[in-house]
Amino acid sequence: MTTKPIIVWFRKDLRLYDNPALHAAYETNQPIIPVFILDPISSDSDQHDWVFGGAHRWWLHNSLLSLNQSLDNKLVLLKGDAHKQLQSLIQQTGATHVFWNRQYEPWAIRRDMHIKKQIKHAGIDVQSFNGHLLYEPKDLLKDDGTPYLVFTPFFKNSCLKKNGDPHKPLAKPDTINFADHNCKTLTLADYKLLPDHQWHEKLHNHWEPGETGAQTKLNHFLETALHVYATGRDRPDKSYTSRLSPHLHWGEISARCVWHAVRAKAHAEDIGKDADTYLSELGWREFSYNLLYHFPNFPDKNHKEKFDSFPWEDDPKGLNAWKWGKTGFPIVDAGMRQLYAEGWMHNRVRMIVGSFLVKDLRIHWIEGEKWFWDCLVDGDLASNSAGWQWVAGCGADAAPYFRIFNPMRQSEKFDPSGDYIRKYIPELAKLDKKHIHAPWEAPEHILKMAGIELGQTYPKPIVDHSEERDKALAAFQSIKNAA
Ligand code: FAD
Repeated sequence: MTTKPIIVWFRKDLRLYDNPALHAAYETNQPIIPVFILDPISSDSDQHDWVFGGAHRWWLHNSLLSLNQSLDNKLVLLKGDAHKQLQSLIQQTGATHVFWNRQYEPWAIRRDMHIKKQIKHAGIDVQSFNGHLLYEPKDLLKDDGTPYLVFTPFFKNSCLKKNGDPHKPLAKPDTINFADHNCKTLTLADYKLLPDHQWHEKLHNHWEPGETGAQTKLNHFLETALHVYATGRDRPDKSYTSRLSPHLHWGEISARCVWHAVRAKAHAEDIGKDADTYLSELGWREFSYNLLYHFPNFPDKNHKEKFDSFPWEDDPKGLNAWKWGKTGFPIVDAGMRQLYAEGWMHNRVRMIVGSFLVKDLRIHWIEGEKWFWDCLVDGDLASNSAGWQWVAGCGADAAPYFRIFNPMRQSEKFDPSGDYIRKYIPELAKLDKKHIHAPWEAPEHILKMAGIELGQTYPKPIVDHSEERDKALAAFQSIKNAA
């Protein structure tokens, strides 16, 4: 039996449980070299616009810390061009195979194809696996061979009917036989992932990056919220969603594992409707990856080309007010402040703040996409671009542009007591639930009692929603008949 090692290249699969590449390597009985490579293609802004944002870097640092512990501190950390780094590792160790789980970002696909070809050419066995998604996007085509553009048939016909339930998760290897080698490894500090300013410190209060943190979040959700998910998921004032998005993004838990855990819980407790709603959200994640895979320009270009001539506004002041939660619309400001404080925002509020940016302010959705990308711990090229194109009405199966969210009505409906707003906007904490959604409509004495002076302690609304609504509809009308 050969004792030559196998390299397992960790990327967005920072876990041991249900990790197909690691599992396949383990099955060979050869010794394993686990490696992570900080590649300029992911981290150097000269490469493209979508390199790691600040929140990503914080998460990755902590997630690698956790993965390395699970791997008995045997994770080899390298930095630089991934192909060169792998080549050098192969030369130093005599490795015969390189295994990894696939990524779907356009540049990652290009990079991996190149590496696969070159390394195979050198006589090394290279195998890649699906560890990130429930299904492979290339297997989810319509009968005529084109990609799906509408979610429901995509999920119901292609995912569920044609491909069936996703595979059951793979076991975690019992004990890993690590290869002995003398290769130099960097330290996490050498990666310099943590931002200079201390913005990230507070993220520790909300998140535990790594496989254990992911499992804890899943268990908590199954016990406390799955049974109310179908209606509860729209309530930002409650903890009724799983908050698994950053863990799924980094592959600290697999979508298959979440899928089967939810199914099992639903089966045991007869909560099928809530579970189905949750599983369809995992379906939206698949749909987003399907769009990115088949339309690699999705993060940068309107999917519906007629939006190319949309009269977007150049409004740096408005954009700044939006970014920092100072628009004077409490639900919008609460969402933007949650984003900055926690690196995460509730889905309903993502839709509200998104609609406000692209419709009330008519600022290009790419500005919102970029800010989210930098601030979100779950910033994900597929889901973020699909989310923004959905909000802007220019995506596939998107919300029609003419359906414009009224921030006050959304706020009354989904944060009825105003608790979500109070949590993130302390200036408004003393305002009652009747007036908190639109403080500018409150009588002067109510504001005074709550210690609020509009324009001083909290901004006046930066726009008039009903006027902006009319302008947005007129702008949309102007492109309606474009090709
Ligand atoms: P849950 O409600 O618990 O859902 C479970 C999982 O399903 C999520 O973790 C996520 O992986 C997936 N999911 C849920 N809703 C969606 C959706 N609409 N689209 C795709 N996947 C979904 N999600 C990201 O993971 N990364 C992003 O960068 C991102 N950007 C977004 C930008 C905008 C403008 C919008 C409207 C949505 C965006 N989403 C993004 C989708 C969604 O808001 C988040 O996935 C969700 O809020 C994460 O919280 P959760 O884990 O508690 O979700």
